[in-house]
Amino acid sequence: MKKILNILFFLFLISCETVPVSERKQLILFPDSYINKQSVQAYQQFLNKANVVSKSNDQNKELQTIARNIEEAIHQYFVLENKSDPTKKYNWEINLVREDQVNAWAMPGGKIVFYTKILKIAENENGIATIMAHEMAHVVGRHGNERMSQALLINVATSVAQTATGTTLQGEAKTAYNLLRTYGIFLPFGRKQEAESDYLGLVFMTIAGYDPDETIKLWERMAKYTKEKGGAPPEFMNTHPSSENRIKNFKKWIPEVRNKYSAAKHNYFFKE
Ligand SMILES: [Zn+2]
Repeated sequence: MKKILNILFFLFLISCETVPVSERKQLILFPDSYINKQSVQAYQQFLNKANVVSKSNDQNKELQTIARNIEEAIHQYFVLENKSDPTKKYNWEINLVREDQVNAWAMPGGKIVFYTKILKIAENENGIATIMAHEMAHVVGRHGNERMSQALLINVATSVAQTATGTTLQGEAKTAYNLLRTYGIFLPFGRKQEAESDYLGLVFMTIAGYDPDETIKLWERMAKYTKEKGGAPPEFMNTHPSSENRIKNFKKWIPEVRNKYSAAKHNYFFKE
């Protein structure tokens, strides 16, 4: 028993990695190659059953253009900061899905879904860029892997405790696939991960040339929509709790981020 706990503790020690930009330490137990492969499968399975909007649709074309711009900004960010780019091997993919949901989500490796209804609240390209950059930031921050690693650790620790006390294991096996669906899509990220994605997303969209002030307006629109719906929040708000704190953060960050990164595109090309 003690030996197993020691192994777990050791695993924990060697698995703490650092989030780019925020430098926050995080627990990563799964190799990205493995997670990303699982992610592709789960994503494909979702798309097979979804009402996917054609690539020739105008709204979808706009979405793809914004995604490419943010993707480019992410590369620029790592060049500017002189850091190795963890997204180099990512195969970003964005699909627009027709469904009565105000939602968007991202899975590890860069597999993203936007629902048509969230575009109404996004309202314009800066609003879409705000959501897109936020979702991409979850991917860059490896938040899916981190959530799954935390779940696995809790799961293994519980199993160890159950085995040690002689009780049998209950419930279905927690496969990586199940974890991915649960922690990649359906459960909200933690507060720290959300704040991290808000900040990183703001940086990425600013580098891409979108208006950082739109972040505040978007979250205000999201709050207004929630109020109009009689307090029942849109799906996106279940996983992205609205708070005045969020808007307060943006107000604090925008001047600094604008100052540091709004000329980044020019500097980047100048460097080349
Ligand atoms: Zn988020």
